[in-house]
Amino acid sequence: MSECLFCMIDKGDLPAEKIYDDANIFAIKDINPQAPIHFLVIPKKHFSTILEIEDDDHNIIGSIYSVANELARKNGLDKTGFRVVLNCGVEAGQSIFHIHYHLLGGRILKWPPG
Ligand code: 5GP
Ligand code: ZN
Repeated sequence: MSECLFCMIDKGDLPAEKIYDDANIFAIKDINPQAPIHFLVIPKKHFSTILEIEDDDHNIIGSIYSVANELARKNGLDKTGFRVVLNCGVEAGQSIFHIHYHLLGGRILKWPPG
């Protein structure tokens, strides 16, 4: 998957500041933030969409929420609220086909999303 943007960022083939990094997961700031805090929490394993997640992957996906919690707390979002969003497929607005969880906060977020 060398042509995949997030695989390339993970391998260091494209520059990006990792704000979190472990064996399975990394996080970066979104290049086009939709809120004062907008991070992307990304599994290193390449899943094009959540439809590719299998039972063996549940540990990795569960860890996404630990990382999201840690980043939310570090940025004070545990006190105000935040949103974790994953877009699946074209009609949901997915534009990069390597799954990533948007962590959004720092402003009042409207519901439902557009
Ligand atoms: P999606 O639309 O697939 O749910 O989200 C893709 C996100 O990746 C968008 O919010 C977009 O701004 C962000 N993005 C696209 N290219 C880059 C990049 O090169 N670096 C970073 N940090 N974010 C990116
Ligand atoms: Zn990838």
